[in-house]
Amino acid sequence: MFPFTFIKAKNNKEAITAAANNTGTKFIGGGTNIVDLMKMNIEKPPQLVDITSLGLKKIEVLSNGNILIGALVKNSDLAYDATIISKYPMLSKALLSGASPQLRNMATTGGNVLQRTRCYYFFDTATPCNKREPGSGCSAIKGYNRMHAVLGTSSSCIATHPSDMSVAMAALDAIVHVEGINGERSINFLDFHLLPGDTPEKENVLQQGDLITSIEIPSLPFASNSTYIKVRDRASFEFALASAAVALEVSGGTIKNARIALGGVATKPWRAKEAEQYLIGKSAGTETYKAAASVALKDATTYPYNSFKPELAKRTLISALQNTGGNNE
Ligand code: SF4
Repeated sequence: MFPFTFIKAKNNKEAITAAANNTGTKFIGGGTNIVDLMKMNIEKPPQLVDITSLGLKKIEVLSNGNILIGALVKNSDLAYDATIISKYPMLSKALLSGASPQLRNMATTGGNVLQRTRCYYFFDTATPCNKREPGSGCSAIKGYNRMHAVLGTSSSCIATHPSDMSVAMAALDAIVHVEGINGERSINFLDFHLLPGDTPEKENVLQQGDLITSIEIPSLPFASNSTYIKVRDRASFEFALASAAVALEVSGGTIKNARIALGGVATKPWRAKEAEQYLIGKSAGTETYKAAASVALKDATTYPYNSFKPELAKRTLISALQNTGGNNE
């Protein structure tokens, strides 16, 4: 370990000011990712600001029907919330497929969207990694890349985004509410995470001192017919090889509306809008779902050890579509 200062913030302003005034400061909520990264010398913040005393722990139904989830709501509390289970089952299922029960009891909503990749080389400080040490190179592109991304990659980084919850939030058009040194702002979830491009170390649009205060899920009646399917190497505790969050509105055998996002295959939670558009107006059935899955994965680029991923992702998506849309062919 290395030396760092630790303060416990009493309110949002105190937390934000402390973080804005000391470059590299990190907030600590559940601590399920940052502590591991610090122990392994991957993250070396000069200061940690404990935000666990802040009033960001509520799940509220707003007057417009949207759900406002405080940034410190635990993953397990969110997964088992009765409103989330009935109105957004894909979100509950995504949360329950992530990590282990012990971790879900500690991990927070805000921390979940900020968790960092599980690329093996990112964790191995003996190897080059552009995300950990900008400009050093990417060990995964010519290395062992079985877990790596096939969508949204760049010549600098091919690491997958690890969050399951974020895949559901991408499908649901969530809004991230942030408070910073210059006030409050709201960020569309699809704009929150960045593609790696030439700067894979920059993973989201937050500025130094920005505090995620809540995440809002817009009302979406047909999301009550939704699911999240995750394929992984073991069921107990593992990151996705491929996952799909799907919501479908079907009337008289015809698809009226669709939401699709993919996980485990992309460098950020991956919304598949073209595939959604393909589905609308089509007959709900397996041939339609197969064609939509091909649209969703048409831009996939594979690497020597992950060439199985596009087909796996297609089958995962088809399965999620079958679960929500049935087969009317
Ligand atoms: Fe680092 Fe990204 Fe390459 Fe992994 S894929 S080694 S995180 S640059």
